[in-house]
Amino acid sequence: GGGLIVYSEANASYSNNGVETETRKKKVVLLGTGWAGASFLKTLNNSSYEVQVISPRNYFAFTPLLPSVTCGTVEARSVVEPIRNIGRKNVEMSFLEAECVKIDPRSKKVYCRSKQGVNSNGKREFDVDYDYLVIATGAQSNTFNIPGVEENCHFLKEVEDAQRIRSTVIDSFEKVSLPGLNEEERKRMLHFVVVGGGPTGVEFASELHDFVNEDLVKLYPKAKNLVQITLLEAADHILTMFDKRITEFAEEKFTRDGIDVKLGSMVVKVNDKEISAKTKGGEVSTIPYGMIVWSTGIGTRPVIKDFMKQIGQGNRRALATDEWLRVEGCDNIYALGDCATINQRKVMEDIAAIFKKADKENSGTLTMKEFQEVMGDICDRYPQVQLYLKSKGMHGITDLLKEAQAENGSNKSVELDIEELKSALCQVDSQVKLLPATGQVAAQQGTYLAKCFDRMEVCEKNPEGPIRIRGEGRHRFRPFRYRHLGQFAPLGGEQTAAQLPGDWVSIGHSSQWLWYSVYASKQVSWRTRVLVVSDWMRRFIFGRDSSRI
Ligand code: FAD
Ligand code: MG
Repeated sequence: GGGLIVYSEANASYSNNGVETETRKKKVVLLGTGWAGASFLKTLNNSSYEVQVISPRNYFAFTPLLPSVTCGTVEARSVVEPIRNIGRKNVEMSFLEAECVKIDPRSKKVYCRSKQGVNSNGKREFDVDYDYLVIATGAQSNTFNIPGVEENCHFLKEVEDAQRIRSTVIDSFEKVSLPGLNEEERKRMLHFVVVGGGPTGVEFASELHDFVNEDLVKLYPKAKNLVQITLLEAADHILTMFDKRITEFAEEKFTRDGIDVKLGSMVVKVNDKEISAKTKGGEVSTIPYGMIVWSTGIGTRPVIKDFMKQIGQGNRRALATDEWLRVEGCDNIYALGDCATINQRKVMEDIAAIFKKADKENSGTLTMKEFQEVMGDICDRYPQVQLYLKSKGMHGITDLLKEAQAENGSNKSVELDIEELKSALCQVDSQVKLLPATGQVAAQQGTYLAKCFDRMEVCEKNPEGPIRIRGEGRHRFRPFRYRHLGQFAPLGGEQTAAQLPGDWVSIGHSSQWLWYSVYASKQVSWRTRVLVVSDWMRRFIFGRDSSRI
């Protein structure tokens, strides 16, 4: 039998007239070199693909350290790694520094534009064919169309943004040292406003506070009493995605540090010298500023918006994919990271099909045994079931079924009908949650997808996913599952808040050391790990460098 397979496979690589044709490698086009793209490249390990990476950035940037770059705690070059260093050796990879401007799923092409000179045709635009397209273009800063934000505010999303902020901060201190300015103007120039009380805004505000108080006051003693940092947040608290204890600690620490936290203030307008914010009561106050850092959330990139319109997802915020990261309504197109969201299928939408699948002998009722046979597949296919059981402190799905039967007063029967199944499972979909737009999610998705690509052929023959509830057979792969490893919020003064799984909260100097070790270990290469750690040591010994270069 083995011989036969070998023979027929050997035969397959000859075309009709007996001439050998090379088996062509499948072409994977990867858009983006951020968290999702880089972790896909780092993991993919199957030489039957050739990967074409397209991104306007020829490097991966470790975004969690960008706030440190804004004040020179870490140098910009320490947090980036050339993308050409990242792929595996046995996978053929090439890179094009260009931006994708249009995706055409019908002709399986992406259209690109380069900022670099011209290509061989004398044009800066070109197109690339794909067999598989992996979209990992991330998101962009969201201005919510508030007038003046685009023109007057700094964003903190890319390495260049962090570098610009660093120069602007130092420029402000030099400017106020020049003669001929009055007190009021000096105060305005040293008023730093941060908009957005999420992790990025909070971390930047605390970095800036440390930079000013630990390093700059020594060099610019006259400026000390003029500096003001203000944090504007539209909600009632900062760091709302964290535990209450962390939020409280952060707000108190900021108040002690003299950072003015203005909660419930929504920015309505910005001009070149003043920023206007509205309070909950509707009062608008206008404050003069020297620099604004805008960090309020993310929006959709134009190329993705355009693609979503083409495929009938025009009214969404991000590309919808299924649980295997395949873009809904498209063939061979995958999307991951900040540009995508997983559309988790609801149990209640499939309840009739689930019942039918479980009820093998079509009796119209389910025995516990029948149900237990498909239980594993159901928990795989609908992770909300497990989350729900956990939230209720139940051990298995049978607990849930028993509870439903008890409620319906049909305790005596060991079988349940479809109505009983419905009432047992009617609450589970409440556990479906959107994944946060974080590097952690993006990186896990990149690794997951690369592993699927690696095993595409194997799993075609031996599918390893759960049974198809609405169809026949099994899914090729197990669906993507996110594992939350916890999150940090550095608060300045060598203190960090950490929230780890299981609601484990720790705040203070010890978590700062945990932060140092986690962020050192998460670096993509040994080169950047050494650079980052030596930057930290340099800072401990000599302080931050305030040269304006
Ligand atoms: P990105 O990393 O943004 O990468 C997108 C890539 O696509 C880039 O290479 C970009 O150049 C490229 N691209 C853009 N447009 C195109 C186009 N048209 N064609 C081709 N390529 C394109 N997350 C955490 O988990 N922990 C943290 O501590 C943390 N801290 C953060 C701090 C800051 C300051 C910021 C800004 C973000 C932070 N995040 C953190 C969030 C995290 O960075 C994002 O969630 C993550 O980058 C998303 O990964 P991604 O691959 O989807 O997108
Ligand atoms: Mg039955």
